[in-house]
Amino acid sequence: MVDFQLDAETREILEAYRGFVEEVVLPREEEANFEDSDAVPEDLLAEVRQQARKRGLWAPHMPQAWGGRGLDALALAHVHEELARSPIGPLAVNAMAPDEGNMHALLHFGTDEQQDRYLQPLVDAEIRSCFAMTEPEAGADPYQMQTRAERDGDEWVINGDKWFVTGADGADVAVVVAVTDPDVHPKEGTTLFLADTDRPGFQVDRDVPAMGAWSPGGHCELTLDDLRVPADAVLGPVGRGYRVAQDRLALGRTTHAMRWIGMAQRALDQMASRALERESFGKQLAEHQSIQWMIADSVKELYMSRNMVLRTAAEIEAGDDPSHEVSVLKVFAANAAQEIIDRAIQVHGALGYSKDLMLERFFRDARAGRIYDGPDEVHQWSIAKNALDAVEDEGTTRSVTGGWTR
Ligand SMILES: Cc1cc2nc3c(=O)[nH]c(=O)nc-3n(C[C@H](O)[C@H](O)[C@H](O)COP(=O)(O)OP(=O)(O)OC[C@H]3O[C@@H](n4cnc5c(N)ncnc54)[C@H](O)[C@@H]3O)c2cc1C
Repeated sequence: MVDFQLDAETREILEAYRGFVEEVVLPREEEANFEDSDAVPEDLLAEVRQQARKRGLWAPHMPQAWGGRGLDALALAHVHEELARSPIGPLAVNAMAPDEGNMHALLHFGTDEQQDRYLQPLVDAEIRSCFAMTEPEAGADPYQMQTRAERDGDEWVINGDKWFVTGADGADVAVVVAVTDPDVHPKEGTTLFLADTDRPGFQVDRDVPAMGAWSPGGHCELTLDDLRVPADAVLGPVGRGYRVAQDRLALGRTTHAMRWIGMAQRALDQMASRALERESFGKQLAEHQSIQWMIADSVKELYMSRNMVLRTAAEIEAGDDPSHEVSVLKVFAANAAQEIIDRAIQVHGALGYSKDLMLERFFRDARAGRIYDGPDEVHQWSIAKNALDAVEDEGTTRSVTGGWTR
């Protein structure tokens, strides 16, 4: 039984995050000049971060022992949503990809030394990180990965090209995914390495200009040319990098979905408000049935996305394998957010298309959600496979549709 009820303490915490977004984050959007650039200005970010710390809202996803707020997955579902109503929000509390996912990987798979060296400064936002997995010739399909790491005495030597690595420009450390045994399945032959980016052989070739999804440090193309890292730079067990990466991505996909819900919520609120304010052909937009249907469809999709997030968060909290739920959620919520934002633009007409509102930016940002962390089609493939396996093994697809199973 999934219990979505929030206790009084969690409600108080959520109230604090909502207050922070409404009192500190949203009022700063105007001075960020998002009409000219998607970038969050550094001085503005420093100021809102100071406020977040002062209010005790820093790093909601990290345990208190590491200086975070220590929230569980259910509370985080609501918190990430609140924060993502503005592109400033997730960064303001240091809970944004890729640092957030890397903190998670270090917390669960890092050695004591790795945690001291990288996790604490990451939580404190003293350093930035990136996660280098995708390659020019290998994205959705891990079998195609070309980057190799070979053991040489007390070191590993890494060679390969990486592509679209968020945050790489100016990052202090990179989590590099490389094949260490090409003769076995990637699940058994891939390893993660923590590479300091000032090491010889680590080169950022360019920040690839992109449609949206702005991030500090861009989305970069990298060359790893005889990049040497010490043996103790391996994150998690040798040969188990794919599993560690999947664990990191499962949480990352869920928190991305939480953020898409935040954007979609703001878009729907604006859509409904505009429908009440604006008149056309002698009546409110809200009185036209076609507009009502856009609102109704958006309500249904947002409702379903939110319930899926909470269900997935509950699976994570219970320690169950959430990979199927994450795939269902990831595809559904990414597409729902895009549809809802698109309808909000439509209801606003030219104003929605303009940069006077955040909707056009949200539309560009949300589009990436259908590609990163596994494109729609790969998750659809996996969802269908799970359904077919379930009906073969159990005679019903209940277990993959959230139904009760014995
Ligand atoms: C904003 C953004 C940020 C990113 N950040 C990072 C990052 O920090 N680190 C990192 O390593 N990567 C990052 N990526 C890369 C991202 O993870 C990859 O783009 C993604 O895994 C898809 O790989 P690809 O682009 O090479 O597409 P490909 O693998 O070439 O796939 C292209 C298309 O082919 C189709 N396709 C592929 N496989 C199948 C299939 N089995 N069945 C049906 N159709 C299929 C899909 O339509 C897919 O979109 C980022 C991408 C974006 C857009």
